[in-house]
Amino acid sequence: MLPTEAYKWHCLEEQFFKLCRSYNFQEIRTPIFEDAELFVRSVGEDSDVVKKEMYRFVDKGGREVALRPEGTAGGVRAFLEHGYQNMPQPIKLYYYGPMFRYDRPQSGRQRQFYQMGIELFGTQDPLSDVEVIKFTANFFSGLGFENLELRLNSVGCQSCRPSYQEALQGFIRDKGELLCRECRKRSHSNPLRVLDCKVETCREALTDIPYIDQHLCPDCRAHYSAVQEHLVQQELSFQHDPLLVRGLDYYTRTAFEFISTHLGAQNSLGGGGRYDDLVELCGGPSLPGVGMAVGVERILLAMEKEGLLPEEPAPSGVFVALRNKEAVGWAQRVLYDLRKIGFRAEMDYMERGLKAQMKQANRGRFRFVLIVGGEEALGDGMVLRDMVSGEQKELSYEDAVQHLTGAQPMVRRERQ
Ligand code: AMP
Repeated sequence: MLPTEAYKWHCLEEQFFKLCRSYNFQEIRTPIFEDAELFVRSVGEDSDVVKKEMYRFVDKGGREVALRPEGTAGGVRAFLEHGYQNMPQPIKLYYYGPMFRYDRPQSGRQRQFYQMGIELFGTQDPLSDVEVIKFTANFFSGLGFENLELRLNSVGCQSCRPSYQEALQGFIRDKGELLCRECRKRSHSNPLRVLDCKVETCREALTDIPYIDQHLCPDCRAHYSAVQEHLVQQELSFQHDPLLVRGLDYYTRTAFEFISTHLGAQNSLGGGGRYDDLVELCGGPSLPGVGMAVGVERILLAMEKEGLLPEEPAPSGVFVALRNKEAVGWAQRVLYDLRKIGFRAEMDYMERGLKAQMKQANRGRFRFVLIVGGEEALGDGMVLRDMVSGEQKELSYEDAVQHLTGAQPMVRRERQ
C-alpha cells in the first residue's frame, strides 16, 4: 500500500476508530500468529478457513503455529489469559490488523487482508446483537453506502442444531452424487458446511434444502424474533436469509452479513454473529459473545465501484522556500516553529532554485508557500503565497502565522 492509497485507508480507519469511541469499544492488539490448535478448535476443523486456507507451519521450536485467519479466536485467547472472564461484563473490544488466508487471489480476495472487528462479551441479550449490527450499519452509512443489503439468520444453538444437522444429513444422502465429494464427506462431521459450499453443482442442488427455521428451539426462536424486532425499531432493514451460515464454525444463533450488489463473487463487505460457545471452546467458562468483522480492501473496492472514495486530501500546510542560500538559518527556524505550532511544513534540502521549489510545493500538495530571503524581505519579512488562489503578499512572520492560523485575514505589513 503506497502513499497514494494510504489516504483512502485513513478515511476508513478514522470512521472505525470514531465509532469505536462513541460505542465504547476498547482496543485489543493480539499477535499475528498463534498456536494453530486455537483456530482448529474455534474456527472449526471442517471449515474451509482451517482446512484449506490457514497458513500453518512448524517453528524452530517444533511448535505448530498459524498466521491468524481471523481476529476473534486470538481475542478470546487473550481475554481468557488475562482473566477478563472474571471482570464485570459486558466487555467490549475492538481490533484492527492483517489476517491471512491461503485462497486463490482474485478481486476482493487477498491472502493478506485487513480486518476491523468488534467483540461484545458477556451477554446473550438480543440488544447486544443489535448493538453490533447497528455499529456495522453506522460504519457503512458513515462511509456513504446507501444500498447495502443486510442478510440475517439464526443458526441455532447446541440444543436445536442437531435436529437440523440430521435433516441436512438426510438431504445430503438423497442428493448423493449431485453434491461434491467434500460435502458428502462433511455429511457426518459438519453438514452445515454444505450451505456454504462454493462448488457450482452443490449450489444448484441447494434449491430444496431444508431450512433451519423449522428446527430452531423456542429459546433461539424467541431470541431471533427479539433481534428482528429491535432492528425494525432501529429502522434497519434486513432480509432473512435461511441459507446464511458464514464460513466459521463458532457461530450460534445470530449470523449476519452486509452485501454489496456492486461486487461479483466476493460481495460480502463484512459480517458476524453470536458465538455463545466460543469462550468455553477455548478453555474458559460458559460466556456468551457477539461480534463482527469488516474487510478493508473489499470495502475500498466497493467504494470505488460506487464512486464513494474520498478525493485526494486538499492542499494543506506550508512549504518554506528559499530565495537565496543566506536565508537558510532563518528558514529553518521558521520551518521548525511552524511544525511546533501544528502545521504540516516542509522545505527544500537540495539547493533547488525558487521555481523548482514552487514545483516541489505543488507536487507535495502544500496550500501555502512562505518565501524567505531576497531583497524585498525586510527584517523578518517574507512573502506568503496561497497556492490555490495564486494570491501573494509580503508580510512579517508574525502576520503570516496569524493568517495561516486563520486568526485574521491576510494583512500587509507596511514598510517602515
Ligand atoms: P469472515 O472473517 O470470513 O467473516 O470475513 C469478514 C470480512 O472479511 C468479509 O466480509 C470480507 O470483507 C473480509 N474478507 C474475508 N476474507 C477475505 C479475503 N481473503 N480477502 C479480502 N477480504 C476478506
